[in-house]
Amino acid sequence: MGLVLLNRFSDCISFLDTTLRDGEQTPGVSLVPENKLRIAQRLDELGVNIIEAGFAAVSAGEFEAVRLIAGQGLRAEVASAGRSTVGDVDAVVKSGAQTMSMIIPTSDLHICEKLHKTRDQVLKITEDCVSYAKAHGLRVDLLAEDATRSDFEYLVKVFEVAVSCGVDRVTPCDTVGILSPDRAYAFFEKLTSRLEVPVGVHCHNEFGMAVANTVAALGAGAQVAHGTINGLGERAGNAAIEEVVVALCALYKQPLSIKTELLYSTSQLVSRLTGVYAQPNKAIVGENAFKHESGIHTQGMLSNPLTYEPFSPELVGRTRRISQGKHSGSHAIKADLDSMGISPSEAQLQEIFLRVKQLGDKGKTVLDADVLAIAENVMDLGGVKPIELQYMAFSGGVNVAAQASVRLCVNGKVVCGIADGVGPVDAAINAVKNAIKETEPIILEQYNVKAITGGTDAMVEVVVNMRKGLRVVTAMGVREDIVKASMDAVISGMNVLTTDYRSNGK
Ligand code: MN
Repeated sequence: MGLVLLNRFSDCISFLDTTLRDGEQTPGVSLVPENKLRIAQRLDELGVNIIEAGFAAVSAGEFEAVRLIAGQGLRAEVASAGRSTVGDVDAVVKSGAQTMSMIIPTSDLHICEKLHKTRDQVLKITEDCVSYAKAHGLRVDLLAEDATRSDFEYLVKVFEVAVSCGVDRVTPCDTVGILSPDRAYAFFEKLTSRLEVPVGVHCHNEFGMAVANTVAALGAGAQVAHGTINGLGERAGNAAIEEVVVALCALYKQPLSIKTELLYSTSQLVSRLTGVYAQPNKAIVGENAFKHESGIHTQGMLSNPLTYEPFSPELVGRTRRISQGKHSGSHAIKADLDSMGISPSEAQLQEIFLRVKQLGDKGKTVLDADVLAIAENVMDLGGVKPIELQYMAFSGGVNVAAQASVRLCVNGKVVCGIADGVGPVDAAINAVKNAIKETEPIILEQYNVKAITGGTDAMVEVVVNMRKGLRVVTAMGVREDIVKASMDAVISGMNVLTTDYRSNGK
């Protein structure tokens, strides 16, 4: 195979997000209709063109979720998946979804072993079901299952039959992820040249190439990219929609309708509601995707971020972070301290630098609060914390809403906050947020908890990411009580963000 040039991009590429259907087939993930709706609303804001909301015929809950989402009047087209049966078409019609992702297997393996049918029977089913769905007013996208292992001429025939029955789109599915970028290009170039309707691309990630294959297919003329947020999906997952979007924007300069700056918060919402978190080094949305630690890198970054970033993190709604540790350089520490109004002498900086490295060498994650504490100690700054927790109380129980009240001292002024929450931790954090919201616009970006030892009296470690403006810091609290550990982490992070020795006149 010679050099493949992706030069057949359509000028109207659109995105079908299947987080709520294929993504929800991730083992262990099951979303209640209300949470599906929250994700759908977010996807609509993000600007995806089609939201596959679920599989209407699969269960009462699924039907309800599709119905709920279809009834919202979203800007995006709402689709439901279904098998090629009259019953499934009826369920989609009843759900109110505008579109049906109609699944029909096309490989001999699936036709014989799964359906126990013949190729001719599958052609007939396609003809009947597409006609039936069209007659009932649905828009139809025919999803050919296992298309990439199907006889190519037979696959084209299935699609041609569907086109003759009025199908709106056809999508060959790389169900077991066996394409590679050069094969994907060849396959879609050949297929799109044979068909008059828009062709979608639906890739799975068994070989880690779902995104690359999707981009290659689009570069060969496919028009609708199927994908999921965070690459969720059965087995190794689907193509991660955020990666496809950014590759098209940043590498191929394709104009898209997606609000890329909402990608990160969308990913966070999906993680929270599904309980499946992206690996830290995942592209675009992983915790470390824009984090720099090594001294050589941070020195380059501080003079020009392009040295170690192919695009700016703001493109996807994130900020650059420089974390301190044994790989740190003194430039990064100086910049960090500078943002808190701390100006060490050269000798003091070297001492702070040395202590940060020693901490890293002990295998410790160096938190922003640690750097601040070291600097305060070395420079004898007194270590006055702008925010101090004076009092906290909370109540709640089974079938009783959790409520918390706090009293804080913020730069010498006493402020109080009271709030409800889904549990005591949520209520306590909300109460702190309420207390300070007038003076300090701080956002809790991430909250993680782990038990260090076993048992109900185990030490609990809470790690939070807090943000003020463009600055994000990581802070931690370790206690036997999860509410106290959470408060320690949140207040420690807030203290780093609000420490400004300039305004303190020191
Ligand atoms: Mn799939």
